[in-house]
Amino acid sequence: MPGRLSHIDWLSLPLPAQSIMPHRPDNAFVRDQLALRARHVNSAPERTDGAYVLYWMQSTHRFEDNWALRYATRAADRLGLPLLIHQGLDPTYEHANDRIHSFILHNARELATRAESLGLHYQFVLRRRRDDDRRTVDRLAARAALVVTDDFPTAGIAERTARFAARIEGRLVAVESHAIVPAALFVKEEWAARTLRPKVMGHLDHALTSVDDAPPRVALPDALWHSLDVDRLDLTRCDLSAEIARCEIDHSVPPAPLPSGRRAALARLDAFCRGVLRDYDTRRSEPADAEGSSRLSPYLHFGQLSAAAVARAAIDAVGRAAAERFLDELVTWRELSLNFCLRNARFRTLDALPDWVHRTMRTHAADPREATYSLEQLERAETHHPLWNAAQRELVATGVIHNVMRMYWGKSVLTWSASYADAMRHLIALNDKWALDGRDPSSYGGIQWCFGKFDRPWGERPVWGTIRSMSLERAYKKFDAAAYERRWNGESLGL
Ligand SMILES: Cc1cc2nc3c(=O)[nH]c(=O)nc-3n(C[C@H](O)[C@H](O)[C@H](O)COP(=O)(O)OP(=O)(O)OC[C@H]3O[C@@H](n4cnc5c(N)ncnc54)[C@H](O)[C@@H]3O)c2cc1C
Repeated sequence: MPGRLSHIDWLSLPLPAQSIMPHRPDNAFVRDQLALRARHVNSAPERTDGAYVLYWMQSTHRFEDNWALRYATRAADRLGLPLLIHQGLDPTYEHANDRIHSFILHNARELATRAESLGLHYQFVLRRRRDDDRRTVDRLAARAALVVTDDFPTAGIAERTARFAARIEGRLVAVESHAIVPAALFVKEEWAARTLRPKVMGHLDHALTSVDDAPPRVALPDALWHSLDVDRLDLTRCDLSAEIARCEIDHSVPPAPLPSGRRAALARLDAFCRGVLRDYDTRRSEPADAEGSSRLSPYLHFGQLSAAAVARAAIDAVGRAAAERFLDELVTWRELSLNFCLRNARFRTLDALPDWVHRTMRTHAADPREATYSLEQLERAETHHPLWNAAQRELVATGVIHNVMRMYWGKSVLTWSASYADAMRHLIALNDKWALDGRDPSSYGGIQWCFGKFDRPWGERPVWGTIRSMSLERAYKKFDAAAYERRWNGESLGL
């Protein structure tokens, strides 16, 4: 199953000659998905003396609809070995803070509770300080027949995976579970939603085929579990707040007021499908209506819930036609961002923008700005505009900004920075640090959209050039901006 398949009709792929798992035959759907989603990160062989297959959970923090776990389970069954699921959390990721740590740890507690009932062996290691032992996963890999991990382009995961692959001797396979339609089908960078939409939407029904997951055949022996040289966190008993307080991370970014975990995500999904979904097209455009969209992005970002589960629930609730507007965001726009981050290594910089944007930025680089703000002023919501400040306060207080306001928030910074490069840096820094759904492909897709990515040239204006402009003043005519302002400008920043 080496490498990725490309622009082929994967629905008509012949079955691979050798089944991944001979004892429990999979249907063609599962085999094709695994073939498309799995990438051999190195060329090392499987270790014949491996004691288990290791699934290193990095971005897909769930047991359901998890293609890396499916791949690892089948590999374990094929080799007649048990499966060990390992998740770790370090203090060294960019912007490591209480908000992100807390969301990950509370979900991990739920995973630990559920693992046993699902017949899975799951462990979590919290590295509290930078100089604590940092090679747990290397030691685990040294005893594994092969290591399977998540393939994810952002949040430092691609880089961490590449460094790990260069260090270990055994085989490493990375499997993509972020997209509903396998990202490997689209080998080139897509230009716009309109180029990707017909392709992903054409595959959607088939890609939503459900799979019955089963635990690995061979249980991990107790003796092996206890012999592993790891300092596991006892998630069911420990005091998570105390553990987070002990970590060498930024404690000035507090946990967001959003319950973490699959149970909370499913409750939110259920409420959305029963309620707003039918009126999503209109209600999503009203920022003062906090319930107007699914608000699932943090759960989707951390992989606590799969986009496939969300799409299935939406279609079951109202039918495909009535869910189409929502599916366009969940599938087309979300997977456009994934395609962008996978196919364009410069996704965090202006270099990722099309030529017409560079031309217009050059022309308008010296235009006088209405105002210029430092990153610190932006962070503290100290701009002249109350509507922008309200959006920044929503971000700091909750970890998200309403979709419509997120566009105004990003577009305004473009015009309030000394250079376009500063604007991009400031937006990425604010979003990565404060957003619970930040550091996601959709983060960089969304921010780059503010600079003209996926868009076309519009009429010429100062500073904007031909980039689509959005005026905070005009927002007051489009929605109840005053209500949104009242809601969030009352919120203390605590900074
Ligand atoms: C400047 C800027 C920054 C952004 N940063 C992020 C970010 O950090 N993380 C993030 O997930 N999204 C980001 N987006 C995209 C979008 O604003 C959010 O996904 C959406 O507001 C999340 O709210 P929701 O879950 O209620 O979305 P819903 O409207 O309920 O949509 C369902 C899901 O579809 C996906 N989605 C919706 N809109 C988009 C979009 N325009 N692009 C890509 N995916 C989309 C999300 O996963 C979302 O949860 C950003 C957009 C902009 C303009």
